[in-house]
Amino acid sequence: MPEILKNAQTQIRFAVDKLGLPKEVYELLKEPQRVLEVSIPVKMDDGTIKTFKGYRAQHNNAVGPYKGGVRFHQSVNLEEVKALSILMTFKCGVVGIPYGGGKGGITVNPLELSLNELEQLARGYIEKTHKYLGDHIDIPAPDVGSNAQIMSWMLDEYERINGYQQPGFITGKPILLGGSLGRTQATGVGIVEIAKCYLEKIGKKAEEASASVQGFGNVGSFTCKSLQDEKIKVVSIAEFYNGKAYAIYKEDGIDVKSLMKFKESNMNLAEFEGVEVIDMDDFWSLDVDLLIPAALENAIDEEIARNIKAKAVIEAANGPTTIEADKIFKERNIFVSPDILTNAGGVTVSYFEWVQNLYGYSWSEERVLNEAKATLRKAFENIWGLYKQHSDISMREAAYMYSIKVVADAMKLRGWY
Ligand code: NAD
Repeated sequence: MPEILKNAQTQIRFAVDKLGLPKEVYELLKEPQRVLEVSIPVKMDDGTIKTFKGYRAQHNNAVGPYKGGVRFHQSVNLEEVKALSILMTFKCGVVGIPYGGGKGGITVNPLELSLNELEQLARGYIEKTHKYLGDHIDIPAPDVGSNAQIMSWMLDEYERINGYQQPGFITGKPILLGGSLGRTQATGVGIVEIAKCYLEKIGKKAEEASASVQGFGNVGSFTCKSLQDEKIKVVSIAEFYNGKAYAIYKEDGIDVKSLMKFKESNMNLAEFEGVEVIDMDDFWSLDVDLLIPAALENAIDEEIARNIKAKAVIEAANGPTTIEADKIFKERNIFVSPDILTNAGGVTVSYFEWVQNLYGYSWSEERVLNEAKATLRKAFENIWGLYKQHSDISMREAAYMYSIKVVADAMKLRGWY
């Protein structure tokens, strides 16, 4: 069983036992309620037909409709999608939004497809799964490798099949098609709000804090920009280019806004002026206040965890820490803000997008981001309270306990156990 699924199930079992809930709760939560596996044929530009594997996992809908992104990546597989759908259920529970967890994915390297091939793939995914999707059933969104254009094709295909407009069927859309202002930067803004909550708890001023960030994609770049906006120094950023991971470093802080502009025309951050290039061993062991993994899962293993000098790990990516690494953080007393809390700003603003679609409203960016920050702050306080109340649990364990209680109570009310 892959690490990320085992990890999620371990957390569920721990929380169910610690809360003294009946074992039926674990039975109901350990696997998704439904998984779909589909084959999507695409007529390639050279005239040949190629089929791609697509998945959708729907974990639990006791609290509300399933909700979660569709990942376009060459390593997507059923088990990963299942695990990510579980994380989504508990992420929604942590921030108290009325959704259950879902996740989808297609095993493909989107960079190898032309726009025409990508459009067929996006439409084909909806054609094969649409019966199980809808604004009160299961609401997709972008994830790694997918974007607002892909959401537009998916929306159009869904509406074409059903014959009526339903913008709340998918989130992460362009503004013109009913997307929400603030959605693009929401996850990064939320991550930094959580980082600020932590710094306040330890009595450190933002302007005296430093951070290193792994990954400069959607989440990583907006996290870095928000760090800069909050005057937290970004000393190092790791990226992946030409089959190799490396990091750029600048002791007095990288100018993130210029770096974002630079990346529009050059993906090799090593060529950005005024930075030093360091290897990944040096990156992981930088003495910073905040280490923020914002790339993919399982980035931090046992060996890396032993060498980390950061005071806190703020998990921006989903599942970036292996179970072994997590144990080492606990032993070494390194604070970890878990993914299901830290990156919940994305799904929170997706929820605001859905609400606006259902009611035909259009909120200002300021309103969206302020409400998202307030939601995350409240969630941090709830989890922190539980973490402090029990002397022997981690923030991750506290987050799962908090969230599982919400889902378990909803399942009990529905008479599922
Ligand atoms: P993305 O594809 O835009 O960015 C990922 C970046 O990480 C890319 O730039 C890639 O080159 C880089 N990367 C990959 N492997 C690397 C490595 N070994 N070392 C350094 N850099 C590496 O994806 P994203 O949307 O930014 O998502 C990142 C993570 O955040 C994922 O785990 C995703 O599930 C999670 N997440 C995303 C959102 C969202 O709103 N997009 C919300 C919640 C969680």
